[in-house]
Amino acid sequence: MVYTEEEYQQKRPKLMHELSITAHLLDLALQHGAAVNARRVTDLYLVIGDLSSMVDESVQFYWDMITPGTLAEGAQLHFERVPIKMRCLTCNQEFTPPKGTFGCSLCGSDQVRIIGGDEFRLDSIGVECDQPLEMEKGT
Ligand SMILES: [Zn+2]
Repeated sequence: MVYTEEEYQQKRPKLMHELSITAHLLDLALQHGAAVNARRVTDLYLVIGDLSSMVDESVQFYWDMITPGTLAEGAQLHFERVPIKMRCLTCNQEFTPPKGTFGCSLCGSDQVRIIGGDEFRLDSIGVECDQPLEMEKGT
């Protein structure tokens, strides 16, 4: 698949999409928090590809909007950006294009395929528990 800058802009999602993804993140955080009897969820570590349609500020905005009153209220969001990775279909080179360009950096071909940088995932979370987790108890 070949992307132009214009097509990339069209891929950018509507705001409601970002809200639903942020709500999904909250679900995940609450599930994990409940699973370990957390008093609260303190941190979320997110991995966002540079090509992903998600914008840090939007996620943070919706996060602050939907978390009050939940275990994850006040949790800190950490964003790790992953660069775009492409493969040239002409010369087979893998490369990270400079911002705003999509052509091959070696041969100049614009026949390129995106092979990374469009991910968006929750990598890990930090929680606070009333009691330290006890791995084993003496008998
Ligand atoms: Zn090339």
